[in-house]
Amino acid sequence: MPGTSPVDAVHPAAQQRPHRRVRRSMYSAFAVIAALAVFQAWHGHRFEQVRAGDAEIISYAGTQRTFTQQMGRMAALAGGEQPVTLVHAELLGEALDRSRADALLVEALLDAQFKLSGGQPEVQAALQVWQAARERLWYRCEVLLRHLDDGRLDDLPVAAAAVQREVDPALVAASTLTERLQAAASARSARQLRLLEGGVAATLMLLGLLALLVVEPTARAVRLQVRRLADQADELSRLALVAERTDNMVILSNAEREIVWVNDAFTRLTGYTPDEVRGQRAATLLRSENNDAETARRLRDAVEACEPARAEVLARVKGGREFWIDADVQPLRADDGELRGFVTVAADISERRALQEQLRHAARSDALTGLPNRAVVLDRLQRAIAHARRHPGYGFAVLFMDFDRFKQVNDTLGHGAGDEMLRQIARRIEDTLRPGDAVARVSSRLQTAARLGGDEFVVVLEGVHGADEARAVAERLLAVLAQPYAIRGQAVQSSASIGIVTADHAVGSADDVLRDADTAMYEAKRAGRGRCVVFDSSMHERLVRTLEVENDLRRALREQELFVVYQPVVDLAPDGTPARGGLAGVEALVRWHHPTRGVVPPAQFIGVAEEAGLIDAIGQQVLEMACAQFARWRQTLGAQAPRLLAVNLSRAQLQTPGLAPEVRWVLEHNGMQPHELQLEVTESLAAQDDRVQASLRELKRLGVRLALDDFGTGYSSLACLHQLPVDTVKIDRSFVGHAETLEYHRVLIEATIRVAQTLGMTTVAEGIETAGQAALMAALHCDRGQGYLFSRPLAAEDLERWVHAQAVEPAHA
Ligand code: C2E
Ligand code: MG
Ligand code: MG
Repeated sequence: MPGTSPVDAVHPAAQQRPHRRVRRSMYSAFAVIAALAVFQAWHGHRFEQVRAGDAEIISYAGTQRTFTQQMGRMAALAGGEQPVTLVHAELLGEALDRSRADALLVEALLDAQFKLSGGQPEVQAALQVWQAARERLWYRCEVLLRHLDDGRLDDLPVAAAAVQREVDPALVAASTLTERLQAAASARSARQLRLLEGGVAATLMLLGLLALLVVEPTARAVRLQVRRLADQADELSRLALVAERTDNMVILSNAEREIVWVNDAFTRLTGYTPDEVRGQRAATLLRSENNDAETARRLRDAVEACEPARAEVLARVKGGREFWIDADVQPLRADDGELRGFVTVAADISERRALQEQLRHAARSDALTGLPNRAVVLDRLQRAIAHARRHPGYGFAVLFMDFDRFKQVNDTLGHGAGDEMLRQIARRIEDTLRPGDAVARVSSRLQTAARLGGDEFVVVLEGVHGADEARAVAERLLAVLAQPYAIRGQAVQSSASIGIVTADHAVGSADDVLRDADTAMYEAKRAGRGRCVVFDSSMHERLVRTLEVENDLRRALREQELFVVYQPVVDLAPDGTPARGGLAGVEALVRWHHPTRGVVPPAQFIGVAEEAGLIDAIGQQVLEMACAQFARWRQTLGAQAPRLLAVNLSRAQLQTPGLAPEVRWVLEHNGMQPHELQLEVTESLAAQDDRVQASLRELKRLGVRLALDDFGTGYSSLACLHQLPVDTVKIDRSFVGHAETLEYHRVLIEATIRVAQTLGMTTVAEGIETAGQAALMAALHCDRGQGYLFSRPLAAEDLERWVHAQAVEPAHA
């Protein structure tokens, strides 16, 4: 808040601990000194008592001397010449009584003094001497007094002399006692003084120790603490500066989660001034309804539990604007663990989120066309499948489309053109599906068009009912997509094949549904392209069968289950019979000896082999087996051996690089001349693309012969025949079979033969089954014939027998 720092806002005064130690040690020192003072006072008082006692005793002891002297003087008077008066007797008696009374007092005082300060032996001894001397004196005085009282004057001198004899010892004893008492008192005084000095010294020592052991370390600790506090204060003020100046918003709240301080960045980002927000809860103030409920709950729970929490959340600021923040909430606790408040640091991350959003979008869309990608399709499909499961009756459909001959566009016009075409396709699909389109009237419902890759596009139609609705959309798409595309000034023709899966056939995962749609799309292609086919489970079964065949084929290749049969190709004599020396060559035809299915013809596995990428291996095995056999026949049949070996090539083989070197190697390996081998490609294939053409030319350069197989079934016309690098044209058996009955076929065959001969090509009529057909072909000047009329395809040894039989008698002569 204005004028306060974040440190003041939340932290109380810094904790101090040395003060406790100082207080404790000072109180102890005070207690010790007070005890010492009390003791000194008490002891002083006692000493004063004893000293006063001493003075009194000494004074009474002194008066004893006086009384003794008085008694001596009275005795001297009584023993003298002059008469003794009553006054003398009274004086003597008084001295005696007072001496007695004082002596008792001295003894009582001494007794008390001994109890206070202990008796000194010298004093005791002097006391005893004095007591004995005074007793004797007192006795003599009593005797003298009795004589005086009795008036026995004669005895007076003797009695007085006796008193006088006792006076001196008594005086000496009294003096000695007085001296001893004085000496004892002085000794006691000296002791008292020493004791006083000792007390002072002990107090001083204690104070010294206190200074050394408590005050100094405490002072040091305090100094250290002060320095540490100063450092902390420095650091805190630096941190406070950071908190104030950072671009992150910093919010300090108290334990009740009410805002107590915010920094400038907070005001900059939210528009709220510190005064506006003080006392409010940040979570309430900045709450946005658009937050993910789970994230918001997690953050709230953590704060409620006073635990640290971090989350990316939307914050709604003054004026309603929303932006993304990365909020890091940390509880602040005192040393004793008590919650003091929270510090929230939060880093406008809108830009980062926008970037993430862009990346997320990029990850879910196809860069080329801008359409959603496979991931989105799978998401949508998964959702539709789940929805359909929960709501029986809910319908959806998947349209899987692939473009026919798109590859040719890429190969002939380049990839740039291909890309352009894909973009145009994407736009057309989008336009066709746009809400309001008359035909794609699933308008208001969810539709997703996506590109899976290559020329494969998918449309997910959510909410369509039944195959008919889906087919209507597909038909519309087919019509729109079949319109010519204007690419780089050229009109390019293409068509799509669409496979459809409807909700009732959508079993399994989204991937499974896509796969089924793909299967249906292949069916559409197989059925003649440019059409749509709705998936049914039989397709799947067919697919499964295909997969089985594929697996079996792999084994067949490993276990050498493939073998080759050979069908003779004969020169036709003008009358249609094989010309003399008839055998022109043989065509190698592959067979599969399947362990359970018996002998399988090529039509049942060549297609699968092509799709599975096994055709190269099959082609190679066939070529090697046939060439080896061809070489063996040279040994066994000599001059009668076939002069030409025809081997079929499939489309995929022609598209694989390295075919020509492989062919050359096989020829060399078997000692064959290149012109002894004829490679047959189907007519529909030869014209297909540049790659195939290049491959054909390469084979041609090798010197092998090329034949155009099944001529008449494909697209290429007679006019194009000259463009193909082939030596032989094989007229398809569907024409030959009807040549006798259908004029059109006969004319076509005739024209083919004529054009081929003009171009210097050899012609072969396939599938001659009757002598009539043979005769007709011969009449049309067809060079060679092949068919059941002459021979079915034969095993190698059967062919040898066939050759021998021919030498004896031509088969159908
Ligand atoms: P294709 O090259 O046109 O071979 C001639 C086919 O016509 C052979 O069928 C042959 O048995 C059959 N045929 C011959 N004369 C007659 C006849 O008088 N009447 C009838 N109805 N049919 C006759 P096959 O052996 O079943 O081969 C079918 C096709 O499979 C071949 O047609 C060829 O395209 C392909 N094929 C055969 N072997 C191979 C191979 O090793 N590699 C490749 N890529 N394809 C092969
Ligand atoms: Mg052939
Ligand atoms: Mg053929």
